[in-house]
Amino acid sequence: MISQKFQDAVNEQINAEIYSAYLYMSMGTYFESLNLNGFANWMRVQTFEEMTHADKFHHHVVERGGRVLLKAIEGPATDWDSPLAAMQAVYEHEQKVTSLINALADVAEAEKDRAAYGMLQWFVDEQIEEEASADAIVQKLKLIGDHPQALLMLDSELGARVFTPPAAEAE
Ligand code: MG
Repeated sequence: MISQKFQDAVNEQINAEIYSAYLYMSMGTYFESLNLNGFANWMRVQTFEEMTHADKFHHHVVERGGRVLLKAIEGPATDWDSPLAAMQAVYEHEQKVTSLINALADVAEAEKDRAAYGMLQWFVDEQIEEEASADAIVQKLKLIGDHPQALLMLDSELGARVFTPPAAEAE
């Protein structure tokens, strides 16, 4: 059985993951408006990934006899000043999500909820990757500066990203 306190905290995190998906979907439309379809593809894959994060938390609550309660999702921003500004916003958002995951781990620890430790460790590891991949694109965009040809090369690279559904054993 899941404690009420931890269940409430996970329900908040489900909202945060769906908000992340919504934010990245919004960024995808921004990149589509710039005809940067590779960046838009990267955001689309990111959106799907965030929904699998929400689903992983959802599954955890249900499997432990709890109840998922969905709340309103905040509206995302719709415009950014540049591709660099948008990717910097991704990096900053992922740093915020990392702190939310850490706070969730603190609740599990306070509740001595050992059943949650493995699931949360997966998210702690995932956040290292999320921050690193966003930061890598930010750094490339800084190198690119005002060179459209280089920007189009990066766009083409990001267009190759493919969504891979999580393995069943990781759920
Ligand atoms: Mg996430």
